[in-house]
Amino acid sequence: MTHIRYKALTQKSTSTPHAGKLLAWYDRHHRILPWRISPADYAQGLRPDPYCVWLSEVMLQQTTVEAVKAYFLKFIRLWPDVQALAAATEDDVLRAWAGLGYYSRARNLKKCASIITDKYQGRFPADIEMLRQLPGIGDYTSAAIAAIAFNIPAAVVDGNVERVISRLFAIKTALPQAKSEIRRLSRQITPQNRPGDFAQAMMDLGATICTPRKPACILCPLNAHCAAYTEGEPEFYPVKAPKKARPVRYGAGFVIVSPDNKVYLRKRADQGLLGGMSEVPNSDWLAVDDTATPASIARLTNAESAPFAAQWLPCGSITHIFTHFELRLSIYKTVTATVPPSNNGWWADADRLHEEALPTVMKKAINAALPDIFK
Ligand code: SF4
Repeated sequence: MTHIRYKALTQKSTSTPHAGKLLAWYDRHHRILPWRISPADYAQGLRPDPYCVWLSEVMLQQTTVEAVKAYFLKFIRLWPDVQALAAATEDDVLRAWAGLGYYSRARNLKKCASIITDKYQGRFPADIEMLRQLPGIGDYTSAAIAAIAFNIPAAVVDGNVERVISRLFAIKTALPQAKSEIRRLSRQITPQNRPGDFAQAMMDLGATICTPRKPACILCPLNAHCAAYTEGEPEFYPVKAPKKARPVRYGAGFVIVSPDNKVYLRKRADQGLLGGMSEVPNSDWLAVDDTATPASIARLTNAESAPFAAQWLPCGSITHIFTHFELRLSIYKTVTATVPPSNNGWWADADRLHEEALPTVMKKAINAALPDIFK
């Protein structure tokens, strides 16, 4: 991993009471992460590589730090800078991303790398508005890159920070309505000095001390400023609007295995859910309403939607949770050497399936038919 060395900044006093205490805590207790510059190295003049900051922040959207670490290191090994990533094919990027979920992020990663390389000569713009124009970079990610990579005092508000701010100020408005108030208060306590470390310190505080359950308020550097702690019920915050039940969709998946141990795959359409990823043939995924009966659900999950007539062996069902719905797929398997011609299908060696751009839901489907193929 490369990092850019700049002249050390003069350390000025911090500008808010929250920042002073939080940065002192961060200097001692920061998490060590592969994309991060430690406060000690930062003080010596080492600065984060914007490519590493961008890559990690895109990966961290909707994914945990623990899950991201290995993917981040793999990407840096395969594509050590933004120009290398721009030169990769989308299929290679999707393959390396497989398992991380939300695959539009991988496609936007590739598009963004090409723009940075072609339009910005390989340098990320040090400007929050220009960053926000790039594919896959929204309000949060542009603020995070601006703060961490370029030391711009932007309000960086992810789920962890939302929780910390809503507790510090005992915000009674429910999320998501409270988001603009939270951003305003975040701006208010962000210092001009070390805003990047401040953003990362808020993230670390939310992840390690101000946790959703049983926050360790006694250890918290901000407890003297915390309204929720003073009230005595920090877990009450953030207030959340009641969740709507996630609808359930049903369908069937068909694992076709050849006598020489290959699995038939095809490519999904480029647009839409899991766009451009690989899959086993499967039916439409259809939602049911409250009047659905076991018989009507069985019609959506039987083998009648199979891609061709064969002896389809039932292999149980799998469940996968997407953001907006839960999917239940019944899985069937057949062994055959021939499938109807298709312009987007291919045979993949069963023992090399890990090299295919298969999303987790498809790995589950294949595992149901070929147990333990993905461990
Ligand atoms: S005092 Fe407790 S509730 Fe308040 S910010 Fe710290 S950990 Fe969170």
